[in-house]
Amino acid sequence: TIALNGVTKDFAKKRVLDDVSLRVENGEFIAVLGPSGCGKTTMLRLIAGFEQMKAGTIRFDNDIIASPERSLPPEKRNVGIVFQNYALWPHMTVEQNVGYALKIAGVSSDERRRRSLEALATVAMENFADRLPADLSGGQRQRVALARCLAANPTVMLLDEPLANLDVHLRASMESEFADFHRRTRATMIYITHDQSEAMALADRIAVMDGGRVMQVGRPHELYSQPQNEMVARFIGNGF
Ligand code: ATP
Repeated sequence: TIALNGVTKDFAKKRVLDDVSLRVENGEFIAVLGPSGCGKTTMLRLIAGFEQMKAGTIRFDNDIIASPERSLPPEKRNVGIVFQNYALWPHMTVEQNVGYALKIAGVSSDERRRRSLEALATVAMENFADRLPADLSGGQRQRVALARCLAANPTVMLLDEPLANLDVHLRASMESEFADFHRRTRATMIYITHDQSEAMALADRIAVMDGGRVMQVGRPHELYSQPQNEMVARFIGNGF
């Protein structure tokens, strides 16, 4: 379980997250939807350990991993991360990038190669294994970052618009890869998207955010049929 309790975050004088509480069960797929600037990425960065908070706590299972006083470093949180600005290592090939976490974990080089190529195949990038990141397009780099995350087989995955730069065909096939991956691994996923249909298709529950607050969390059909306030009704109802 991941539990945020009363999480508050300021940048300079601006309140970016305001008393956010959210509980994500093990194995659950949560999509986070909301207008630009509402605090989605900041919330994910706090869960990953890249930001300090002003008030509140974050727990993994029963352990407090972050509070204003204390914060477990990102590498000890055992989460897989696909952020838009979470770059590949430029001096390593695609395959080395994808296999790096496995190398650190002591996985043998044959096994590493097998798992890296398998992960690359799920994002249709297996033919690029020997390339350097500089020789790839933005969308291709994003797919490699996704493969890197999948290969490490984390129990928690934090994904910030992982399909945003991809063309429409690739998006559709990657969407079903996500669904398969989730069914297979039962990893806990927190998935930011601008795309409501993507959220509806993939998520067990959707959290709608606005102005640094979580407005409602519910199953997709609940948000449609029982929006708790006008913002959710407008946002889910109208698309954007
Ligand atoms: P988008 O959908 O556009 O990515 P978001 O919902 O992910 O937006 P955040 O990136 O979390 O929103 O940003 C929330 C607010 O915090 C915005 O007003 C943003 O300008 C501000 N902000 C984010 N990072 C910083 C920072 N490092 N310094 C100052 N302000 C920041």
